[in-house]
Amino acid sequence: MSDRKREEIKNLLSFVIPCYRSEKTIEKVYREIVETVAQKPEYTYEVITVNDCSPDGVLTVLRKLAAGDPCFKVINLAKNFGKHSAMMAGFSYVRGEYIVNLDDDCQCPMDRLWELVDPVANEGYDCATAAYPRKKESLWKRMGSQVNNSMVNMLIEPPKGVVLENFAVIKRFVCDEILKYRNPYPYVAGLVLRATHNIKMVPMEEREREDGNASGFTLIKSVELFANGLTSFSVKPLRIALILGVLFAFLGFVYGLIIIIRRLCNSGIPMGYSSIMAVQLFSSGVIMLILGMIGEYLGRIYISLNNSPQYVVRETMNTEPAE
Ligand code: UDP
Ligand code: MG
Repeated sequence: MSDRKREEIKNLLSFVIPCYRSEKTIEKVYREIVETVAQKPEYTYEVITVNDCSPDGVLTVLRKLAAGDPCFKVINLAKNFGKHSAMMAGFSYVRGEYIVNLDDDCQCPMDRLWELVDPVANEGYDCATAAYPRKKESLWKRMGSQVNNSMVNMLIEPPKGVVLENFAVIKRFVCDEILKYRNPYPYVAGLVLRATHNIKMVPMEEREREDGNASGFTLIKSVELFANGLTSFSVKPLRIALILGVLFAFLGFVYGLIIIIRRLCNSGIPMGYSSIMAVQLFSSGVIMLILGMIGEYLGRIYISLNNSPQYVVRETMNTEPAE
């Protein structure tokens, strides 16, 4: 590679934006990127948008923007694969040294971009992420992210206090590392943490959604994401299941002993159907839970062996097929 080419790539910021139901906001996000990058002439940009088979007219807007700017790239997915798969698709097309992740709904505070780029470009960090105080979102969504965060903490064990948000900059080598994950259920925060712990948290406020739409994350999508994070990175849940199973078997055994002894000491005690039923129901519930968890892992192994794709690209604009 020529020095000039390398220099160009070194100062290239690759913005990766998964798009879903954002026909009203994506153009504004793009304009804001162009304005912000223009503040520092040493940097150039490419915007890689991934249409996650959005049901609204966002693809038309993306096509229009791509026609007006060769640095605006579009990857059109064949189905709705979810945010994280869409991000993986975007990552596989980046050319820049620094990759900026952001959402399509103007919620990421673009005016604070350089506070995320500088630590990665000049201070030796591998990743810099926004750190939002408290999310402006519905109660169940907040509870969902709480559960998700504590799950990430338990399973992936990030450095203390590190939470990856939807506005973050990563170095190219982290992106290349993330792309080695080929399974159909990616979870990007986990993949970043698998590659590096050298992460800077930059406190900033998330903006309100501008289009007034509700979040594109339905309850079901949040549950799916939770299951991905839960089972993709660790077999700890299986171990917890095992411990639970042992614990309840032990309790059942002790309770059984107590019943037998009481019955032997006092033959007047009638046979206790209710207690039998209670124990029966409880233990079969635990067994079902454990079987379900094992089934989840088995299903994932099966699907991975099946070579189910992370995403399928229908067409691209302004970009070469990924290597
Ligand atoms: N997203 C996606 N596919 C989906 C749902 C969402 O690519 O099926 C993208 C969406 O375009 C946005 C990001 O995920 O860039 C976050 O979505 P949203 O703003 O709805 O969620 P929230 O901000 O509430 O986390
Ligand atoms: Mg959002």
